[in-house]
Amino acid sequence: MVSSPHTFDFPPYRPPSEAQSMLLRVTHGCPWNKCAFCSMYRKYPFARKTMAEIKADIDLMPAVYGTHANHVFLGDSNSLLLSADALVEILKHLYSVFPGLKRVTSYARAKTVMKKSLDDLKAIREAGLTRLHIGLESGSDAVLKKIRKGATADEIITGGLKSKEAGFDCSIYVLLGIGGMEQTIDHRQGTIRVLNAIDPHFIRVRTLTPIPKSDIAKWIAEGRFTLVTPLVSIEEERDIVAGLEVNSRFLNDHASNIVPLDGKLPEDKDHMLQLLEQGINYCRNHDVGYSDYRYL
Ligand code: SF4
Repeated sequence: MVSSPHTFDFPPYRPPSEAQSMLLRVTHGCPWNKCAFCSMYRKYPFARKTMAEIKADIDLMPAVYGTHANHVFLGDSNSLLLSADALVEILKHLYSVFPGLKRVTSYARAKTVMKKSLDDLKAIREAGLTRLHIGLESGSDAVLKKIRKGATADEIITGGLKSKEAGFDCSIYVLLGIGGMEQTIDHRQGTIRVLNAIDPHFIRVRTLTPIPKSDIAKWIAEGRFTLVTPLVSIEEERDIVAGLEVNSRFLNDHASNIVPLDGKLPEDKDHMLQLLEQGINYCRNHDVGYSDYRYL
C-alpha cells in the first residue's frame, strides 16, 4: 500500500543506530526477499513510490518529527535500487526542508552498489546520502549460497569498496551462527577475509535468532541446520575479532548479541578479546543453553 499525501508512511524497520533518526520511506519492502534467515519484509511486497508521494512525506516530516532532529534514515531495504537521478531529487528536497541535516543513511545491497557506476554513487553521496548499511552476514561463499544471499563474497567486497570510494560511510553487518555448527569454521575464515578486504567504517554484529516459519527454522526442524550454541557463537566472534586487521568501529549493537561490545579496532582489540574470553568461560562454567544466553 502506498501513502496518501495526508498519511505519513513510516518504514517498518531501521537499524538500532538510527533510533534517534527521522524515518522516511522511499520504497516498500525488499526487492530480493529471498535470504533464508530473514522474514522482515515477507509481508511487504516490493513496490516503488512515486516522487510526488515521497515529496509529500518529506513535506510532512516537520509536523511528524519536529525540526530538531538532524539525522534521517531512508527505508525500506535497498534504496540504492532507485536511479541516481531519483535519489538526488529526493535528497535535494529533503535538505531543502531540513537544511541542517548532518547524516542521511540507508540500507543497501552490496550487489546493487557494485552494479551502480562510480559517478552515480558519487552524485548520490554529494547530494547528501552519507552512510550505507550493507548486509554481509558471512564471508563464506558456501554459506552465502546456502542462505540465498544473492551475492558472492567477492561481489560484496567490490560493493563495499566502491561505497567507500564514492565517499560513503560503510557499515557492514555480520551474522554470528549463520553457518550453523556445520560451517562455523568456514564462516569465521571467510568473514575475516571480507572484512579485512573492505576495512569498513563500521562492523555491526548480530546473532542468528531463527524466526518461526523462516527457512532456517524449517532447516533446523528437518535436521539440515544445527544452531550454534552460545559458546560457539562467542567463539566465532572471538576468532573473527582476533583475525581482523581493520580500522573500524566494531559494535554488538543488537539485542540478539551475547557479549556487549563497542570499540575501535585496532586500539580496543585486546580489551574486546578479553570480554569475549570472559563470555566463553562463563558459558563453559555454567552450561549455558540457547534459551539462557540473553541473561549472561
Ligand atoms: S536480509 Fe536484506 S536482502 Fe535479504 S531478504 Fe532480508 S532485507 Fe532482503
